[in-house]
Amino acid sequence: MQSQISTPQNPSEESAGQEMDLSMRVESIDPRLDLEEEIKRLKKEMNAVILAHYYQDDVIQDLADHVGDSLALAQAAAKTDADVIVFCGVHFMAETAKILNPDKPVLLPDLDAGCSLADRCPADQYREWLKQYPNHTVINYINSSAGVKALSDIIVTSSNAVDIVKQLPADQPIVFGPDRHLGRWVERQTGRPMVLWNGFCVVHEQFNARRLLALRVDYPDAVLIAHPECEEAVLNQADYIGSTLALLKYVQAHTEHKQFIVATEAGILHQMKRARPDAEFICSPPNSGCTCAMCPYMRLNTLEKLYLCMRDQRPQIVMDEETRKRALLPVQRMLEMSKNLSPVQQKGD
Ligand code: SF4
Repeated sequence: MQSQISTPQNPSEESAGQEMDLSMRVESIDPRLDLEEEIKRLKKEMNAVILAHYYQDDVIQDLADHVGDSLALAQAAAKTDADVIVFCGVHFMAETAKILNPDKPVLLPDLDAGCSLADRCPADQYREWLKQYPNHTVINYINSSAGVKALSDIIVTSSNAVDIVKQLPADQPIVFGPDRHLGRWVERQTGRPMVLWNGFCVVHEQFNARRLLALRVDYPDAVLIAHPECEEAVLNQADYIGSTLALLKYVQAHTEHKQFIVATEAGILHQMKRARPDAEFICSPPNSGCTCAMCPYMRLNTLEKLYLCMRDQRPQIVMDEETRKRALLPVQRMLEMSKNLSPVQQKGD
């Protein structure tokens, strides 16, 4: 079931030379400008939609038309009638929007906003690895490059992976990539053994199970909620495991709990605090010794770069048409198989 496809452009190759250009452009912004007002003005002028992931800075989330996880943002990108998509997230997410909208410009504030999971699963290595599993259905997490998506049968997110795997025939062997922790969690939820690619997210893998145990002594009444990209030792301690959106919904629904220890990227705390101003949110401690975990790739997008990408209509996502078409099929399968899941969060929800 695997497609043959050439290796796509590497984001770092696409962005070669952009770093210096971008920092010079950031420095040249008139400090008197009200960037938030300028972004709103440009959005109207361009008939653009701003899609922002939960892991973006608060100020960016507040400017967005849709704030969501990967599934919600892919659903929003599939439905939009805007002329331009401004994607405040990381490269693979903006690529997914481009796969679904080949005729629209898709702007990403900083092309270097990559992802450790996607970067550690190059399409050429993945294609070679898949040759060992010729009769398997290839399921890939959306956190992968367009080239890897093009080698897949179905794309999943952490919101819909369990649901989609359950829809496959019980005797169908499955390959799952690139996140080993999410894959293992899906195996446990579905009872389906899968062949796993050995990838991981540098942000979620750094949560420290021993420090977490100590934190739970300090907050005995707190509920521990965790993203399935975390290590098994962390997930084993969790009271609830779910995608970023599922964690937010859990917090909204469980008003009987007043303290939550959150084992995922700290950006989601903005929406959690909005939803539950009466509750206390404690970041799960990462190995780094910091008090919370932030994705360094997501944080490359700033208000200044968001303004610049809209003002100058660059950088844009580019992709060869053959890769796009092959990647489109598994993305469409995902949207079809999860159409009853995870509504997009509109601004103000
Ligand atoms: S949090 Fe992890 S999976 Fe998400 S974009 Fe950052 S590195 Fe990738």
